[in-house]
Amino acid sequence: MNSKDLYAKAQTLMPGGVNSPLRACKYVHSEPVFIENAKGAYLYDVEGRKYIDYVFSWGPQILGHQDPAVSAAAHKAIDAGSSYGAPCLGEVTLAEEIQKLMPSMEMMRMVSSGTEATMSALRLARGYTGRKKFVKFIGNYHGHADAFLAAAGSAAATVPGTPGVPEEVTRHTLLAQYNDLDAVKAHFEADGGDIACVIVEPAAGNMGLVLPKDGFLKGLRDLCTEYGAVLIFDEVITGFRLSLGGAQARYGITPDLTTLGKIIGGGFPVGCYGGKREIMEHMAPVGGVFQAGTLSGNPVAMAAGLATLKRLQECDYDVLEARTKAFAEELASIVASKGKPTFLNQVGSAFTMYFSDKPVTNMIESGQCDADTFASYWQQMMAQGIYLAPAGFECAFTSFAHTDEDFEKTLEAAKQVKF
Ligand code: PMP
Repeated sequence: MNSKDLYAKAQTLMPGGVNSPLRACKYVHSEPVFIENAKGAYLYDVEGRKYIDYVFSWGPQILGHQDPAVSAAAHKAIDAGSSYGAPCLGEVTLAEEIQKLMPSMEMMRMVSSGTEATMSALRLARGYTGRKKFVKFIGNYHGHADAFLAAAGSAAATVPGTPGVPEEVTRHTLLAQYNDLDAVKAHFEADGGDIACVIVEPAAGNMGLVLPKDGFLKGLRDLCTEYGAVLIFDEVITGFRLSLGGAQARYGITPDLTTLGKIIGGGFPVGCYGGKREIMEHMAPVGGVFQAGTLSGNPVAMAAGLATLKRLQECDYDVLEARTKAFAEELASIVASKGKPTFLNQVGSAFTMYFSDKPVTNMIESGQCDADTFASYWQQMMAQGIYLAPAGFECAFTSFAHTDEDFEKTLEAAKQVKF
């Protein structure tokens, strides 16, 4: 079956024909292609067309698809049984490896998605402090748990009001613009005694890539310390992408709790939250804060995650960053030469090229970018085999599998775009 027929059938079986809303490609006025296979930096659709991938399953596949060491580890784990619901070696070795690379993770708990990780970290922060409120940034996305669906980024930004989330549930979610330390300060001055935590994407990846201004993360750290609130870094995207130690190593700020996902599962469903021992020991069965999961610490996900983290320690992040920067800058300049101004945010192996003539530092500025021009760009790049996230408010990811030739082909495709 071709993508068109599959999509028609899928729409009768799943809302919008998809299992996650952005995949429907509505925001680029298009229809999804159905993927049959992926290897290295490439995706292959059901009609055999090849694409250079810049999505990589929305981040996890930083080594490229089917990295041999990761695949071998996953196959070996499957041959030993796919789920036990009991303690296993893999969860201990992966936790040890995460702690080695990210020392703030003194203790941690494995879960099965980023959503579970952030939802559980929030519950823990509330249980630990005995406080209800928390600060969240407009345009940051922390998964789809109810409390976070207030001015959330990514696909959630496209569903105004998000029916199904009672106002009572988000009443305790205090909002601030990203990079606006004064707004956070004002919340603490008004409500400091009842703020359990501040949760932040230390480099934001869900309103396009938006970088923290100098002093922003340090300011959040200081405010949390002053008011006895928990600082949570949501590193579901940035963990093991911005550097081996994540955004916290790169920016030199230590949070109290961290949430992880994507890369630490090597492409299998996984999430993790952890941090200060004193806080983590409030989790059941040691403490009273409850959270559980049938598939938590799944042996196949643990094995794939461990193999990924081991392989990443053999990779050169600085080289990938330099290649990504040069590539993204050239891409932005080629597209801008066609009469549509571009603004580039890039860090590590992530970037967003905005259709904007001014800097993008928060959700307001991200929202002002030219969505129609992005849709036209996306369609023309896809038609030439360049697979980009189907919305202007997402990141492009590079991987250790991309060759210089892949980047060259992508730049050549950009040269053919017409507005
Ligand atoms: N936090 C961040 C920063 C994310 O980008 C995402 C998903 N893209 C999540 C949490 C939720 O992760 P998941 O989709 O695995 O539930």
